[in-house]
Amino acid sequence: MLSDRLKFITPSYTIGVSSKVSEMKSKGIDVINLSVGEPDFTVPEKAKTYGLNSLKNDCTKYDLVPGLKILREEICNKLLKENNCNYSIDEIVVSSGAKHSITNSLLAITNPGDEVLVPKPYWVSYPEMIKLVNAVPVFIDTRKEKGFKLTREDLEKHITEKTKLIIINNPSNPAGIVYTKKELTEIVDVCIEKNIYILADEIYERVCFNDDFTSIASLSEKAKEITITVNGFSKSAAMTGLRLGYTASNKVIAKSMSSIQGHLVSHPSLTTQYVGYGALKECTHDIDDMVKVYKYRRDLVTSKLNSISDLEYIHPDGAFYAFIDLSKVKDMFEYKDSFSIDFCEKFLTEYRVAAVPGIAFGMDDYIRISFACSEESFLTGLDRLNDFILSIT
Ligand code: PLP
Repeated sequence: MLSDRLKFITPSYTIGVSSKVSEMKSKGIDVINLSVGEPDFTVPEKAKTYGLNSLKNDCTKYDLVPGLKILREEICNKLLKENNCNYSIDEIVVSSGAKHSITNSLLAITNPGDEVLVPKPYWVSYPEMIKLVNAVPVFIDTRKEKGFKLTREDLEKHITEKTKLIIINNPSNPAGIVYTKKELTEIVDVCIEKNIYILADEIYERVCFNDDFTSIASLSEKAKEITITVNGFSKSAAMTGLRLGYTASNKVIAKSMSSIQGHLVSHPSLTTQYVGYGALKECTHDIDDMVKVYKYRRDLVTSKLNSISDLEYIHPDGAFYAFIDLSKVKDMFEYKDSFSIDFCEKFLTEYRVAAVPGIAFGMDDYIRISFACSEESFLTGLDRLNDFILSIT
């Protein structure tokens, strides 16, 4: 009865873990939840005021499909000031979240059967989104000794006649990778040479702990031409539930995405758009303060991880996750099909800590924990991880 595309979709592991946590909590079990991918901060007050005022002023009717003019203008200002990218407002399409922007991009760019390159480890939804539009995800194994950064050689090996697009997530979820300008230039040069579009998912751009972050579209005019930059307000302004994202791309792609979005959702909620406008206009310092806290927590998490034997991790330079390599423990742990699923299951039921199995990101020897939660939560959670590992080894 249902469409064939559903046969190929894997339910979200992260949402699966969250529902188990809710179930345990509803039974009165005290669980430490390190699986969440959302800021534990609230939306900055000044940004909220913009939303509330818009309602008071009855801004509740249909508006422009690609987003409020003032919001798109503010996005252009931000892209110029912070990312060194010069866009006009007709190159911006505001959507209901980065997820929505990625879907708009895939619908605008890919035909059925086109290949989309996805470096590993990848954000959990990319493969499923690609399959939903009947394109084909092609995974690229990256090397641990290169910090899981995609290299020119790894990329070139996976390009075929059907390759249409590559997704580069920088800073990355789950590994917190931040590419240097030189590393990005090497990748982008190959894409320019081979005529491949780039979807630059820069949603964690503000949550970056070093000075290395570079927007792909800022590298050159040609890079800008082939790149769709995806960004949003969920991670920077803690606006996850308000659902607001955007793309910056060339005019032709922007117009196509706008036409797709017009039929599917018109535009995101106006109230949300006004909150986003307020966040960009007035809340840079609030966002800076949140990032300082994430950085402080990153340092605590990594020093704690350093004290636990038999694990390794990728040093996170951005985002708010630690991607933990448990391959040394794997051989000593009894599991059925998937090590990371069984490990996380036992961690949750016996140690009452929720983490996300690495298989969700294409790497079964790993688990991901988030530090977008209180210091007490992640420090206790990591103490329990230590106990768990000691019980196995
Ligand atoms: N891209 C990455 C890499 C993410 O981690 C997430 C959320 O976890 C998203 C996109 C989606 O963000 P949004 O809430 O704006 O849809």
